[in-house]
Amino acid sequence: KKIIIALDGFSSCGKSSTAKKVAAALSYAFIDTGAMYRTVALYFVRNNVNYSDIEKVKKALKEIHITFQFNPSTMASDAILNGENVEAEIRKMYISELVSSISSIPEVRYEMVAQQQKMGLDKGIVMDGRDIGTVVFPNAELKIFMTADPLIRAQRRQLELAQKGENVPIEAILDNLQKRDQIDMTRSEGPLKKADDAIELDTSQRTLEGQVEFVLEQVRR
Ligand code: C5P
Repeated sequence: KKIIIALDGFSSCGKSSTAKKVAAALSYAFIDTGAMYRTVALYFVRNNVNYSDIEKVKKALKEIHITFQFNPSTMASDAILNGENVEAEIRKMYISELVSSISSIPEVRYEMVAQQQKMGLDKGIVMDGRDIGTVVFPNAELKIFMTADPLIRAQRRQLELAQKGENVPIEAILDNLQKRDQIDMTRSEGPLKKADDAIELDTSQRTLEGQVEFVLEQVRR
């Protein structure tokens, strides 16, 4: 039987990397919901959307069409905004710096959650984010809540950014992760928190393969 796997947790705990490999092992669909919020943030910056004006936010949301396209070179899906591949752009630091304030706008969340609920319902799905087990799929058969030591998370993120050509000091990354987590935990809609029935996975001392194996073990139970 194919199930829904919800992977939530703090920023840079390895959620997407784990989700991607779990999905591949099970031949499930993988959806990175953070990419969707990042794409909305990119649209808002590019179009100077004044997001303190709720009517402007609603209008902008109607103009944003997000899809995913499989990229064989990374074996993962790239985010597509109105037909344009924005995968590289949404991973940059300036997007990380404003995504959480935009994702805390309730209207933005209602729209993204509705889209996420329609995705991959016909097949097995691994979805990673902050509110998947609590809001998007509260009935998911398996929920994992990932945590890790902040410094380790920052080091991993720094390496990831460096591999994409962006060199950011560790302090700036640590600061960004903590600010995002803070905004994500305290927003009114779908705050970041562990679902009561989620299994906690601390990735500080685990390799990516170890994290994937942990999740697959839970699936086999
Ligand atoms: O997962 P990632 O770190 O790329 O997500 C970027 C940001 O998008 C998070 O810091 C959070 O503000 C927002 N997000 C969210 N809900 C989700 C996924 C991401 O609010 N389900």
